[in-house]
Order: sequence, then C-alpha cells, then structure tokens
Amino acid sequence: MEIKYSLDDFPVQDPQEEEFSASDLTWVKYGSSEHHVDDAALIPYDRVEAFISGECLNAEHPTRFHIERGRKREKGSLKEYKSDEYLLYRLYWCSFGPENYGEGGTILPSRRYRLNTRNRAARPQSMRGCTCHFAVKRLYARPSLALIIYHERRHVNKSGFICHGPLDRDAIGPGAKKVPYICSEIQQQTMSLIYLGVPEENVLQTHIEGIQRYCGSNPTVNSIASQYVQKLGMIIKRSTHELDLDDQASIRMWVEKNKKSVFFYQDSSETDPFILGIQTEWQLQQMIRFCHQSILACDSSFGISKLKYPLYTLLAFDSRRHALPVAWVITRTITKQDVAKWMKALVDRIHGVDSAWRIDGFIIDDPALEMEPIREIFCCPILFSLWRVRRSWLRNVMKKCGHIEVQREIFKCLGKIMYSIWTKENPMDAMEELFQDFVDQTDFIQYFKAFWLPKIEMWLGTIKSIPLASQESCGAIEGYHVKLKLKVYDDSHLGALQRVDWLVHKLTTELHSGYWLDLYADESGSFPSVKEEYIYSTSWHRAMQISDDAVTFDDKVHLFAKVRSQKDSSQERIVWNPGSEFALCDCPWSIQGNLCKHIIKVNMVCQHKKEYLPSLSYLSFQDYMLDLWKTPMDDSLSLDLSMAWATQMQDKIQRLVELITSGDVTKVINKLPLKWAGRKGRTSSGKPAADKKLQIQKSTAKKKSRKRRRLSRFK
Ligand SMILES: [Zn+2]
Ligand SMILES: [Zn+2]
Repeated sequence: MEIKYSLDDFPVQDPQEEEFSASDLTWVKYGSSEHHVDDAALIPYDRVEAFISGECLNAEHPTRFHIERGRKREKGSLKEYKSDEYLLYRLYWCSFGPENYGEGGTILPSRRYRLNTRNRAARPQSMRGCTCHFAVKRLYARPSLALIIYHERRHVNKSGFICHGPLDRDAIGPGAKKVPYICSEIQQQTMSLIYLGVPEENVLQTHIEGIQRYCGSNPTVNSIASQYVQKLGMIIKRSTHELDLDDQASIRMWVEKNKKSVFFYQDSSETDPFILGIQTEWQLQQMIRFCHQSILACDSSFGISKLKYPLYTLLAFDSRRHALPVAWVITRTITKQDVAKWMKALVDRIHGVDSAWRIDGFIIDDPALEMEPIREIFCCPILFSLWRVRRSWLRNVMKKCGHIEVQREIFKCLGKIMYSIWTKENPMDAMEELFQDFVDQTDFIQYFKAFWLPKIEMWLGTIKSIPLASQESCGAIEGYHVKLKLKVYDDSHLGALQRVDWLVHKLTTELHSGYWLDLYADESGSFPSVKEEYIYSTSWHRAMQISDDAVTFDDKVHLFAKVRSQKDSSQERIVWNPGSEFALCDCPWSIQGNLCKHIIKVNMVCQHKKEYLPSLSYLSFQDYMLDLWKTPMDDSLSLDLSMAWATQMQDKIQRLVELITSGDVTKVINKLPLKWAGRKGRTSSGKPAADKKLQIQKSTAKKKSRKRRRLSRFK
C-alpha cells in the first residue's frame, strides 16, 4: 500500500451514523512528521466524540478509551509548521491498558506468567496490559479537522495475545481457571450494587449478564460467578473503616493501601495541619472529561460542626449538568498556603495526564474562602453560588420564627438585602427594614445580628465583586449536598462522626459507588430505574417536568403563584414572593431549606414576565456586561481589541448555549451559523423596560454603529 507523507490529498471522512468506528473509515498509511508509519484518517473535529463512542462499542472488544496524555498549543504560536502539526493532541488508550496492575499498584508481567492465584483470588485484575491506542490531533493549520492516527488497532497485550473481550481465549484466569476474569467495569458495577444494598440474587444476575458479554453462557462460569459475588459480598460486609483503633494510624494505613486514590496527604503534626485529598482513578477521568473548558464547583465546609474535620468537595457538572464529586479534601485548614498545596497537587495530577486541561470558571459557596490560590492555580474567573447562604438563612427562619406568614415575609426581606446588591439600593436600608419590621422576632434577629451582621459588609462586597452562579448550578450543588448528607449521617453511630477513617470509608465506598452507578446507568441504559431516579435528582430537572400551564399567578399584587400538582390536579402548592430566589413554597422540601421544583418552575415562568425582576444571576451578568460595555470610551485600539474579544465571547457563548440546550450535537452543527436562541428568548423578554440600553445580543452590532457614527464625524 502506498505511504502518504502529506495530509494535503487526504480525504475528509464524515460518516452519516450518529456514532461510527474505525471500520466505517478508510485508512491510509501515513508517514507522519515523527517518522512513524501508521494508519490515519481525517475527520471533522466535531465528530471526534462520535468516533470514540463508536470505538467503545466494538462488539469483539467492548471497552472504553481514556485520555492517556494530552498536549496543547496556542493559535499563532508557530511560525512554520507541517501539515500534521497539532493544536490539540490527545492520546487515547484502551482502558484495559496500558499497564497490567496488581494489588498495591505494582506493575505485573503479563498475566500468562502470573501463577500466584491462591492469594487474593477474589480480586480479579482489571488492567490487562492492552496496547490498543490512537492519537487525535486537532490540526494547527485546519482546526476544524482532526487527524486520527491509529498506533495499535488490535486489543492485544505486549506478548501479542488478545487480552480482553469474547475472543480472549484466556478469559477465565488469571492463569488458573479459578476466577472468572472480569473487567473493571463489571467489577465496579458488582461492588456498587453490593454497597448500595441490592439483594444478592439481583447482584448475581446482573453480574452474570455482564460477564456473559465476554465469555458466553456456560454453567462453570455461572457457578464461579456466584462464588465470586458471594465472596465479594462477604469481603465488603466484613470490611471496616477501622484499620486501627487509633484514627490517625488507621488513616495512615488507608493512605498506604490506596496510594492511587490519594492526591495529597499531610499528616497532622506540631507544625502542619491534617490534609487528605482523595481522588480515585475514575474521578480523575471524569474531572478531565467534564471540567475541561467548563465549570468546577465546590461544596465547602460540610459537617463543620459534626465531623472531626470538615469536608470540601470539588464538583464537576456532568452531561446532564448534575453535580458529580470529582475530588474530596478532608481538612480544617483554610489558610492560603495550605489550600494552595492541595490545589496544586490536584492540578499537577491532572496535567500529568492532560497538559491541555483547563477550566473556564470556579464556583465557590463561601465568600470567606481564599480566592488567591484558585486564581493562581486554576487561572480562571471565580463565581459565587448563593445556595449555601440562602439555605442557612431559610433554615434559621424556619427554626426561629413560628408563623408561616412571618417566615415568608422575613425571608422576602432577607432577599431584598441580596437584591439590593444589583438594584443599586442601599443594603443597609433593607437591613434596617428587617430589624424594624420584625423587632418582635427576637430569636431570629438576635441570631442574625450575632452571626451575620459583623461580616455582612464583607460578604456583600465580595458577592458584588464576583459574578453570581445560576439557579441551575445552585440546584445541582444542592442535589449533591443532600445526597452526601443522607449517606454520611444515615447510620452514624455515636462517635463515628469523629473518626476520619469512617468518613473516608463512606465516601470511597457507598458514595463513590452511588455516583459511579448513576453515571453508568445513564450512559449505558443498563438500569432504567437508577437512571430515572438519577435524572430527577435535582430540583431543576424536576421543575422541567412541570408544564407551563400548571403555574397560575395572582395577577394583581404579585404576592404568590400557584403550582398545580402533575400527579393529582386537585392539589396545589403556593409559592410566595414569586420570581425571586428568596421565594418560599409550602411544600415540605422547601420548608426543609431547599430550593424546590415549584420555586424554580415559577421563576422560570417569571423570567418571561415584565412585571418581575430578572433572576439574581442575570442581574449580576447584566452588571458585568454593562461594565464591559462602558470600559473602552475612547476611539482607540483598545476599543478594537474589546470589540474583538466581545465578538469572540459572544460566539463562544452562543455555541455553548446551543450545545447545552439542544443535547444533539449534529443538529447544532447543521444549523451553523447560529442565532442566540437558547432558553426561549430569556435574554430579551425577561428584562425590565428600564434596561433598554442593554441588548446583549446586539451589543457588538451597536458598538460597531456607534464607532461608525464616531468615525463619520471626522469625515
Ligand atoms: Zn483493549
Ligand atoms: Zn415547593
């Protein structure tokens, strides 16, 4: 076959199927600039994900591909370049490789030579030393195209044997025919089901279905599988968080045994405080996958009064925009240098896999947090999420004020303090009103004065200075928080909360398994009921189920809105103070301090009504856009530069909104160039009339005409 040395006469292939694989492409022998000859093909860059999904579904070798390495280059950084130079380079490796790990993370020789099977027989190996891998290069010269270079198409190990899938003749092994070989996915699935308390016979059934994908149906396999599940169940039941009576020693042992899941560890000593950063391999992959050029959020100081050390969780937003825990940090210290230590270790770990990885924003939930390490290490803007403040205010209102009418009025008044940040009223006036109108609510007022008043100016100042995150992300973070609380506090016997090993155990077993299974069910469609529960695990998604006509308003004074139940149309919920994040609903979920689906739905409807204020995050966004718009006053190069930036940003946002709201990439691509059409005209109709000067979707055009006008004056 002819070897080509230039990409110039390479055809661009774009198979019609939603997902496609290597067999749908024609491969060309290509002599790359690195002097290798490999199979290569050129596809549109937008179709890379479709190709990878297709490759994972390979019938003979079902697998996943993970990013083993990544590199990035800035546009314009090269003066001279070859046609195959990359803008973005990613090496994808079959997840049954590259290494062949044994317990403790040591790399084993090929399993054919591994004879020690008596030991740890119930622990199948998941890494099979598969060498199948390919590179994807987004081309420097043509960024809309991706060059796929398949270095190794076969799923074989270093010795050249097929090492996984139904064709793996050694699928029962390792070495001895005692343990069915099980890929990490099935192992994780079975463990998750056991951790989640699914009855053993159901676990066994799914387990057998899983391995039959690899080795067909066979009574021996089934009986071995049954022993395996029993044994695993036993191990899990007997496993304890308490590796040593002394908590500190126990944690040290856990860290030693789980090196691959620890990204930072500092034992407490006279000079250093305790810090433990946990991230499993799976979490690492999800962080790379979902956070790159997206948002990372945190749920900070969980259990600050109940746990020995509070928990700080880093959250990614997955493809459904649910919050997914991608790293946990257990520590009490919040000083700049300590936070910087673990953040740096985490980012270094990720960059070790993919140096091109970067996030576009970091959502914090506590204005008192140190922001410098985030800015320095993640190099991105910081956003603020209101949900923690809102939650703690609401819970205290509920606890300390007796009457529902008082509760909703006082909560509304607290909302005014927040709104005043962007409506340019004086927050102190709203505070004064609170103290005067509710002077008889001594319990609450005392709490507010003692706990909030001393720091309120700092808080409001910080919130004003950084952009505000949306209600959807608040709902997602809340979804995680609620789940975490349920898991951590459910069976906590006295004293356990004061042990770190117990918290670590809870997180890495039950909670990790829960999220693993949610995502697996969602992406594979394997467990429909798990999937459904997962989809509706945030208020935002539950709100999307409510139809617009279920919401009615009291149109005279806008005091409340009613939401008809979807299940029983005779039932209604009343949402007071509609159109505000500080609305209060009479459903139990809201009364517990959460942002319920009724409030979110009512607020979604209010966004399109002139008589209601836009959401807080929209007001904050508007503030930023106005500032940006006002900045370049003179007719200088800086104006041109800001115009270029604004155009670029507008373009990027349009694409993102389209992608996020459509859920179908191909439809979006077919519609290019785009119009701002996301969220049903939220940008224009939800705005108060007074803000006519801000037309975000037209701001660039406006600037252009303004500039033209100015230029014409000089003619
Ligand atoms: Zn493979
Ligand atoms: Zn409600």
